[in-house]
Amino acid sequence: MRSTAAISLAVGLLFSSAGCSTHPNATPDRKLSDTALHEEFAEASVRLYVRRHARLLAVSYAIRTAGTDLCGDAVGPILGIAAWRSNPLFGRPFFEALERIYGVWAGSIAVVAIQPGSPADLAGIRIGDQILQVAGGAIHSDIDLFDRAAAFEDGAIPIALLRDEQEIRVAVEPLLACRPEAFIEIGDLMLTDRARGDHFYVTSGFIRFAKTDDELALVVAHELAHRISGMRVVPGPQVEIRADRLGLYLAARAGYDISVAPEFWDRVALEQPWSLSDDVEHYGWTRVPPHGYMPSRAAAIRKIVAEIQRKIENREPLQPGKI
Ligand SMILES: [Zn+2]
Repeated sequence: MRSTAAISLAVGLLFSSAGCSTHPNATPDRKLSDTALHEEFAEASVRLYVRRHARLLAVSYAIRTAGTDLCGDAVGPILGIAAWRSNPLFGRPFFEALERIYGVWAGSIAVVAIQPGSPADLAGIRIGDQILQVAGGAIHSDIDLFDRAAAFEDGAIPIALLRDEQEIRVAVEPLLACRPEAFIEIGDLMLTDRARGDHFYVTSGFIRFAKTDDELALVVAHELAHRISGMRVVPGPQVEIRADRLGLYLAARAGYDISVAPEFWDRVALEQPWSLSDDVEHYGWTRVPPHGYMPSRAAAIRKIVAEIQRKIENREPLQPGKI
């Protein structure tokens, strides 16, 4: 892996192509030089997003596997992989780079990250594998892949892969976990209402903004809580506080330090001043994503954190009660 080096190399190439003809990387063929430069940038971007997705995978995997009994009927076998398909939203240079690095071509689904010790890891699935079939059904999207695996109820999940142009079959031993899968979305801090089936997105902005995995766990667990509790129907402070409550329990269950929650959400609020009101009409739920940090929510988060910390100290089970 040469991910961080690739970024500095790309910047170096940018300056070299800007006119320093004595630079050792300079080439008389300006067009070729530009192509190489853009390929370096696109590959650096792929590696950056893969690192972010791998971080999201690690945190969401820990939360989903530790909270299985809190997820009601939103439970199914977890794989422990991040898989990408070519998507025009990221632009052609990005996906050409994806093809160069991972062999992902249009329409294929490739594994770009694996959680160590996960069922997929133990079954021998590797980074770069193309997923052809899950449980006998052809895979047409990353959603397809996770939905088919999560719905399988008949023992080890048969998966057909393409590796080095050879078809390989593996059997993934099922591990039950909370079912909603976390996907990465390019965007700022605003968590959106967008979802893919019963799955959810975390924006690249939030992954960057979360200084530690304890902080990222707060975002992932909050979004997961929305997905497993059907808390999308009537947006507003009470729905957010319910998602915070279940989310904080889920994060604590996975061993994350939830004492960082008040300060973290305070920092998020500084970025989103329009959401600092309990009056839903005041900032218009229809206009902005419903993740405001109203005063009632801030107070509730502090109370819930104290309640969970008391239970941890008293070695009581981390059960949130009725959500
Ligand atoms: Zn929310």
